[in-house]
Amino acid sequence: MLLLQVVNKLHCNDIKILGNNNKNEYPQVQAPVCEFCERTDKNLADPKKMDIHLFKECPMLTTCVICTQIVEISQFNKHLLEECDNKKMMRKCPRCKEAVHMDEYKQHTEEMSCLQAQPLTKANRCSLCHQDIPPGDIGWKKHLLTEGCPNNERTT
Ligand SMILES: [Zn+2]
Ligand SMILES: [Zn+2]
Ligand SMILES: [Zn+2]
Ligand SMILES: [Zn+2]
Repeated sequence: MLLLQVVNKLHCNDIKILGNNNKNEYPQVQAPVCEFCERTDKNLADPKKMDIHLFKECPMLTTCVICTQIVEISQFNKHLLEECDNKKMMRKCPRCKEAVHMDEYKQHTEEMSCLQAQPLTKANRCSLCHQDIPPGDIGWKKHLLTEGCPNNERTT
C-alpha cells in the first residue's frame, strides 16, 4: 500500500514536469538518474546540482589529482596510462597491471610485493584501494556503492 502511494506520487510529479514546457530547468521527463551511480533524485534535475553531484559526490567517479579530469574509477587506471596529462610518466606494472610512476617503477617491480592481477573475468582491481574486487560492472557497483571503497573520499 505504501509503495503504491510512492509510485503514484512519482507519477504525478512526472506529469507536472511534462507540462512544464516553457522552463528548461527540467529537461528530463523521467526522474533524473545519475548514469554512473544510478541515483534517482529529483534534485538532480537541476543541471547545477547534477554537476555538483558528478564533480564532488558521485561515488563511481574520482577527480584525477594530476590533470583534474573527472574519471570513472573503473577507468582510472586506463586514464593514468593512456589519457592523463602525465601519462608519459606512468608505466604499467606487468604484475599488478596498475599504473606506476616512473620514479617508483624500478623499486615497485623489483620488490614484487604488489598484488598480482587476476583475469578480468575473475576480479577488477580498484585503483583507489589497490585491492581485488568482484568482476564486471556489478563488481564495481558492489565495491563503490554498496560496500564503499575505504580509499574513496566520496564514500558516504
Ligand atoms: Zn552518481
Ligand atoms: Zn589525469
Ligand atoms: Zn605492480
Ligand atoms: Zn577500492
